[in-house]
Amino acid sequence: MSVDTIVIGAGQAGLATGHHLAKQGISFEILEAGQRIGQSWRDRWKSLRLFTPVQYSALPGMSHSNSHSDKGYLRKDEFADYLEEYASQFELPVRLGVRVERLTRTADGFEVVTSAGSINAHNVVLATGPNALPHIPAFAATIDPSITQLHSSEYVDPASIPDGNVLVVGAGTSGAEIALELAATHRVTLAGRPTAHIPDPVFTYAGAAYWAFISSVLTVKTPIGRRVAKAFHASGAPLIRISMKQVESAGVSRKPRLMGAADAESSAPTTIIWATGFTPDLSWLPDLPLGPGGYPTSVRGEVTDVPGLFLVGMPFQFGLTSGLIGGVGRDAEWIVKRIAHTRHAERSTVNTL
Ligand SMILES: Cc1cc2nc3c(=O)[nH]c(=O)nc-3n(C[C@H](O)[C@H](O)[C@H](O)COP(=O)(O)OP(=O)(O)OC[C@H]3O[C@@H](n4cnc5c(N)ncnc54)[C@H](O)[C@@H]3O)c2cc1C
Repeated sequence: MSVDTIVIGAGQAGLATGHHLAKQGISFEILEAGQRIGQSWRDRWKSLRLFTPVQYSALPGMSHSNSHSDKGYLRKDEFADYLEEYASQFELPVRLGVRVERLTRTADGFEVVTSAGSINAHNVVLATGPNALPHIPAFAATIDPSITQLHSSEYVDPASIPDGNVLVVGAGTSGAEIALELAATHRVTLAGRPTAHIPDPVFTYAGAAYWAFISSVLTVKTPIGRRVAKAFHASGAPLIRISMKQVESAGVSRKPRLMGAADAESSAPTTIIWATGFTPDLSWLPDLPLGPGGYPTSVRGEVTDVPGLFLVGMPFQFGLTSGLIGGVGRDAEWIVKRIAHTRHAERSTVNTL
């Protein structure tokens, strides 16, 4: 079997790419390991609401219905449903339950080896997401084994956490939100250096101007954007909606960044929740030089030295909004234009031979 372009992953990045491929009339398939579109959102903790306001949480070509637009922040399952509706509305060719296991280069593209056989394609777009593998510091293995440890990706709700003190490690948005929720039922300590906070009024009253600023100015094309990119890769995305003040007012104690096991044990926790981020899982790709965040080195997602291989959905791929729902469409469009441009150039060469 052969198609022009294979997109791997049917999360928001893969679906936005599919939308633009369809608009350009390029033949493609989206391969998704999961059994359902939006599964990565459904698997997140029960009470999770998007931290980006509803008007900045849509993909190209389909805004949220009016019934959603008055809610401010969508629940995670509402957004997962939206992704399913998106694929259906644009009749995107998604094959569920097909995992890509290997990618090899061929004379004119790639052989994509999957759990359901091989496919040949001229182009491959990796949209497998930045959150595949939980990142936990190595010293966690030396912590007293009587303490329950879990990663934020395994957290469900307060009822699933044993009684006693909880140490949440990582003061980014996930850590802050989980600490705040647990403060109602547990004694909670939050460890870590907080990232910058975007105050609510910024989005509420200056939303459009603010979004325009972070989308257009904070990109790898501007000096300030490049500075922000460095800070982003070093210390994570800014807190949106939730603030440390809110977390502290709820009774959560604060602790600086942990330096080792003894530090973690000092607040006598019964449970430790590691909200320490993720790494992508691209172990099945051929060996390629890796850039920031563990992704193959690329220019705006066009992988360097591997013609036809692209990335979409990588944090700060082009700008601060690249890893966000409202920003992924721009990167998808750019990648698809590159694919269309290369096809056009190849056809012109053939026609002039
Ligand atoms: C807790 C949390 C809250 C967030 N909240 C927001 C928010 O409010 N607003 C916002 O803009 N962003 C938010 N984000 C950031 C971002 O929008 C999400 O991480 C989003 O899920 C990323 O979408 P994606 O399509 O890049 O990856 P994913 O949603 O992870 O989708 C990738 C897909 O690829 C599939 N896949 C992976 N490997 C393979 C393979 N080998 N073969 C086939 N399929 C494969 C997976 O099954 C998955 O379905 C949040 C992130 C987290 C962790």
